[in-house]
Amino acid sequence: MGLEPFPKRVRVSGRTVSFPPVCPHCLGSASESVGIKSESTLAGFYFFFSKWRYSTIQVPFCARFARRVRASHRIWNATFIALLVLILLLLFSGELRGGDGNVGFLLFLLVMAPASVPLWINRPGKYIRLLGTDEDSVEFAVQSKRYAQEFATLNGASVTGLYD
Ligand SMILES: [Zn+2]
Repeated sequence: MGLEPFPKRVRVSGRTVSFPPVCPHCLGSASESVGIKSESTLAGFYFFFSKWRYSTIQVPFCARFARRVRASHRIWNATFIALLVLILLLLFSGELRGGDGNVGFLLFLLVMAPASVPLWINRPGKYIRLLGTDEDSVEFAVQSKRYAQEFATLNGASVTGLYD
């Protein structure tokens, strides 16, 4: 996932992070949680934070966005399983042989690339992203200036530009 040109940075001190009841994507009221994955380089840190699980943080989003994220995951999963079944059927019917690995791989790319598009479009990382952490603070990149302000106020933090 490439780095987005996030305009705002919020650094929260302490080990508890509170998210405002506002959706980072549309600033509507947030009613559901969407998981934000941290970068793998942060894997060693998550145990400092009670809200972290398997390096995923639950962030409140509006119901509409949460639904879109779930639908995107369902499309991807369903396509993946259908493709797996298809490849297995082809293998068992003798249409694909061991030497046809490249064909299977091409088929995989051709089918899975379009199935990944909704996931890419509806990725929560466009609106809020974990930048990094140290022992007593955690830093987020936020797309919306207003969300950044509410988020910072709630946690006694301040908002800076991403590249300040
Ligand atoms: Zn929203």
